[in-house]
Amino acid sequence: MNGLAGPVPGSADFVCPGSTLGVVGGGQLGRMFVHAAQRMGYATVVLEPDATSPAGAVAEEHIRAGYDDSVGLDRLAARCSAITTEFENVPAATLQRLATRRPVSPPALAVAVCQDRAAEKAAFARAGVACAPHVVLTSERNLADVDAALFPAILKTTRLGYDGKGQRPVASAAGLVDAFAALGGVACVLEKRLPLAAEISVIVARGRDGSTVHLPVQENMHRDGILAVTRVPARRASAPRLAEAVAVAERLAQALSYVGVLCVEFFVLADGALVANEMAPRPHNSGHYSIDACDLSQFELQVRTMTGAPLSEPRLHSPCVMLNLLGDLWFKRVDANTAAAATGATAAASTLAVEPDWAAVLGLPGVHLHLYGKAEARRGRKMGHLTITAATAGAADATAELAARRLGLPWE
Ligand code: ADP
Ligand code: MG
Repeated sequence: MNGLAGPVPGSADFVCPGSTLGVVGGGQLGRMFVHAAQRMGYATVVLEPDATSPAGAVAEEHIRAGYDDSVGLDRLAARCSAITTEFENVPAATLQRLATRRPVSPPALAVAVCQDRAAEKAAFARAGVACAPHVVLTSERNLADVDAALFPAILKTTRLGYDGKGQRPVASAAGLVDAFAALGGVACVLEKRLPLAAEISVIVARGRDGSTVHLPVQENMHRDGILAVTRVPARRASAPRLAEAVAVAERLAQALSYVGVLCVEFFVLADGALVANEMAPRPHNSGHYSIDACDLSQFELQVRTMTGAPLSEPRLHSPCVMLNLLGDLWFKRVDANTAAAATGATAAASTLAVEPDWAAVLGLPGVHLHLYGKAEARRGRKMGHLTITAATAGAADATAELAARRLGLPWE
């Protein structure tokens, strides 16, 4: 078998193990995709400009080229039988170019919707899905006309925001001009700040034949706009709410003619109402738990959807808690003397980058450590995660709390 043995674009043929699969983007999502694909017998090619990327380091081939580099893209298409993406900010033209030669999932149009908060909210509206009251602001001229009922609000750039970046809280109309300028004067969505009782997310996988499966619903806790903790099963939303969230996510996937793994984030409001927040056209941080706690992970589902393999409903075999490991964990506060001795400096450096004490948590039951192979720890950077599995949700929680305390992670 060679890597070019796959089907022609548009055919419903199964791209069988032994073929080569391509992924645009080289971050941790690409790395976990590569791991899943390799385990299933596929070879992998990553297209990523960064020479030291987490996915590039583990793939059979790393094409070091920009996401819009036509030579690199043509090489990817030549090498691979099917192609996917691990992040939403791939130019639509890139996926379109690849799709003229190979099956590409998710489709460029769906990715383009998820790239843009305004388009995403319009897609929610078209599908009859509730989202936060909002207004799209494309220029300073729009700012004076904003409905006072939207405040307090959050101003979000329509494009390129992630992990709370590209957002500003705006308490009242008086702060809007400054917030808009602080975000660079680019197109934004101003949305009402809602009273959140819980945050949940649903990961659906939709095949080329329209069949859909989903992971058990995740409950998420964010800190400073970045996902900190995921729990499954979700506990702070009722069973009918969870079922409604799954139905909505499936409806959105269908409306987008989606093929691949799609994550839909939701808010559960104090009165129990369900509100869609945003979508990611790829596996999602809140779905990492599925590697260790489900019999089928979100990355295996990504492989299955792109290769035209049958899907089967993932089953949670262990309640779990996932803790994100941000770069902050590597920076320990130390007293001035220790810092000076360690660095040979006489000045009082107050922080040091040190490897966290993994042995302290690996001794706990059901702890699965995932590190993404990033050379440099930076504050707020996702370096890895821990999934704690246990026989009961209570036991997973108790061990997660111990693990968090041993690593010096904040715990609620
Ligand atoms: P990102 O792309 O950074 O994940 P989100 O829109 O998901 O952006 O916002 C990050 C987090 O900020 C959310 O998970 C939620 O905790 C909080 N947040 C965002 N929008 C609202 C809102 N309208 N009301 C209350 N909290 C919000
Ligand atoms: Mg989000």
